[in-house]
Amino acid sequence: MTKNLIIGAGFSGAVLANLLANKLNEKVLIIDKKDHIAGNCYDYRDKNGIMIHKYGSHIFHTSNEKVWNFIRKFGDFNQYMHKVIAVIDGIETTIPFNFNTIYDVFPKTLAKRLEKKLLKKFEYNKKVPILEFQKQDDEDLKFLANYVYEKVFLHYTTKQWGVSPEDVDGAVTARVPVYLSKDNRYFQDKYQGLPLEGYTKLVENMLNHPNIEVKLNTDYKDINENFDRTFYTGAIDEFFNYEFGQLPYRSVNFKFEEYDREFYQSNSVVNYPCNYDFTRIHEYKYYLNDKSNKTVIAKEYSEFFELGKNERYYPIPKDENIELYNKYLQKAKTLKNIYFLGRLGDYKYYDMDKAILRALELFEEIN
Ligand SMILES: Cc1cc2nc3c(=O)[nH]c(=O)nc-3n(C[C@H](O)[C@H](O)[C@H](O)COP(=O)(O)OP(=O)(O)OC[C@H]3O[C@@H](n4cnc5c(N)ncnc54)[C@H](O)[C@@H]3O)c2cc1C
Repeated sequence: MTKNLIIGAGFSGAVLANLLANKLNEKVLIIDKKDHIAGNCYDYRDKNGIMIHKYGSHIFHTSNEKVWNFIRKFGDFNQYMHKVIAVIDGIETTIPFNFNTIYDVFPKTLAKRLEKKLLKKFEYNKKVPILEFQKQDDEDLKFLANYVYEKVFLHYTTKQWGVSPEDVDGAVTARVPVYLSKDNRYFQDKYQGLPLEGYTKLVENMLNHPNIEVKLNTDYKDINENFDRTFYTGAIDEFFNYEFGQLPYRSVNFKFEEYDREFYQSNSVVNYPCNYDFTRIHEYKYYLNDKSNKTVIAKEYSEFFELGKNERYYPIPKDENIELYNKYLQKAKTLKNIYFLGRLGDYKYYDMDKAILRALELFEEIN
């Protein structure tokens, strides 16, 4: 019987494990150096019955039918449409900055004028990246562009990436759009929600197969057996002992606090683009509508990743980093029967659906 080793029990590894065991009837040993499955999407119920996302809020959203049909086999989802509130000059409003935001933060006459001019210039429902939006001739729109840049983009981006906005890649700034719409949702995907029993349970269900063995607290370096195929979802630079140098990441420090009251804030996520050192506050009980007279929040502080000190969170999309990654990729291609995937293996920011799709496609390739 073909034997597979999978390093990493996050979504990428778990999807592959399930497919190899289920569709090909092959043996799978899946290991993780952490003491839990589900990787970065790990969640658990705390003593108050509140589902906590240990590594930051995770909201599932996809428009991909293949991914949606696959994932739903392992658990039911609620109907949750994510909204993000930002506090701008003490006013709570929704972001991405849209027509509703304009009416929240400006006097009505000015808001009406801006709305009219925007509708004349742009197509309704269009998302314009902030740096492109700045290229305006009209004085009112120039004022608006500067306002959004200053109040929503500048400080938040500096806090999140630790560099000035000019040094942040276009792929990142494109994620900060001005949305010419009244749609307050953060995502516009067809399918959105959270697994009713949590992500950890979803991954547990994927791994629940007689052909699959799960070993936690186990590093790849501790495995001495031979396997027919190996799938590596850890950091690609670590695999090669940092031969060409370290791939940089942003990390995040979550400071958890418990409060003796029902709610702390008005929404699951509140961003602070202009104030404080943290970027945003997560309040977890909103996601599954957990009932408790206590609440748990996490303040999110961004910092650089340092080996041995914190976790890798976001790859930093810069040309020099992609070049470095490509060196590792070339080296990886010379190895036989070892496949690299996942957010760390591919050095790419993947939303959960994209990580799942990558695993589904790799399986089809092998098959
Ligand atoms: C702060 C944050 C918020 C996010 N929010 C969302 C969201 O709202 N919606 C969304 O769709 N996506 C979100 N994501 C993305 C989501 O976390 C990823 O898509 C997902 O985690 C990818 O899964 P993965 O299996 O590729 O990686 P991971 O989940 O990181 O799994 C890799 C696993 O490999 C293990 N590993 C690494 N090296 C070794 C080794 N040497 N030996 C053994 N095990 C090893 C690690 O311990 C880890 O468990 C967010 C990401 C971040 C950083």
